Amino acid sequence: MDDTELTDDTGPADEIEFTDDDSTLSAYWHDRMLDHEPPAGAFKFPRTPIVAVDEPHPDRRERVENLKRMLERAFPERARFETATRATRGEIERVHDPDYVGWLESFCADGGGRIGDTTTGANEATFDAARYAAGTAVRAARDAVDGSDAIPYALCRPSGHHAQSDRADGFCFLNNVAVAAAAAVAGGVERVAIVDWDVHHCNGTQEIFEAREDVLVVSAHHDHGSWHPEYHPQEGTLDEVGTGDGEGYNVNVPLPPGTGDRGYERLFERIVEPVVREYDPELILVSAGQDAGAADPNGRNLVTRAGFRTLGHRIRRLAADVADDRLALVQEGGYQQSHLSFATLGVFEGVLGHTVDLERYGTDDPFDWLDEPTDLVNSWIDDAVEYHSDYWPLD
Ligand SMILES: [Zn+2]
Repeated sequence: MDDTELTDDTGPADEIEFTDDDSTLSAYWHDRMLDHEPPAGAFKFPRTPIVAVDEPHPDRRERVENLKRMLERAFPERARFETATRATRGEIERVHDPDYVGWLESFCADGGGRIGDTTTGANEATFDAARYAAGTAVRAARDAVDGSDAIPYALCRPSGHHAQSDRADGFCFLNNVAVAAAAAVAGGVERVAIVDWDVHHCNGTQEIFEAREDVLVVSAHHDHGSWHPEYHPQEGTLDEVGTGDGEGYNVNVPLPPGTGDRGYERLFERIVEPVVREYDPELILVSAGQDAGAADPNGRNLVTRAGFRTLGHRIRRLAADVADDRLALVQEGGYQQSHLSFATLGVFEGVLGHTVDLERYGTDDPFDWLDEPTDLVNSWIDDAVEYHSDYWPLD
């Protein structure tokens, strides 16, 4: 048992030693991803007569516009943008059912709309946007494998990790990180580790790889269960460890509401890092959704810019130690329009080992004021360590 107790008196970011080296970032992007527009309503749900004015769907184009602006302004010397290309049909169909891909194309060509009674919806641009999103992820993974001197980042929209092999779900249509991992495997990579810190469970990524041992999936998420049991039976619980050859290679860590910077750091120390080190991947892909950020309307956790800085730093160090620095980040969720930029800034400060002085903009993380109940998350992580120690060297 780890005897390091997390306390409230020091922030984890204070303990990071930044190298301030010359690391740079290569962000893959295409304007077409802005044209995807899910239907408006009452937040993510269909309109209701109890609300007078429809609200834009939370997967708004402003999310990624803000991310792009943040990178341009915060890292003018370190971030460069490259235009992405669409994922090919062959790349997509390594992980998606061709019948589903054909259905999605037709659904969007006919104008889209809300899919059944779900919170997921499309317009005529969605299929094309999703192909570009998957293409950014493929390019990021390929550049990481090829030993790019810049850290690759797929600035995707729509996100991917809820998309299963044969259905859209959770604002996701094509599973970008899964398409990228499959491309890496097809290119000769023998072991890929996907670390998913989005606040939601990556039910789609789990479903796609649950019977495989060549792609490890580690997901930490709010304990939300399945929002559409008829759509996806996965709940993100500890006992969903994979099937057949994949048994043990799906590592779920549910976290309680209110988990913040210290809880996520403990998660990395006690589970993410020992599991990934033991797996010894040749490539690490991060499903980097920052909706564990404090005040995110789709999450219940409390991670700040400083906490995300710690995660970014630790994942980069882990990739350097075990995967020869082959690391790529793939954007997933994050729905508070302003804080997503602060949270993602933290990720890249950690990844690049370079802290940005925001005082010149007269601002800092505007949501860094909530206390984190560490006792609860510590006990949940203890439970996860005990459960997964059947498969991994955890204590
Ligand atoms: Zn999410």
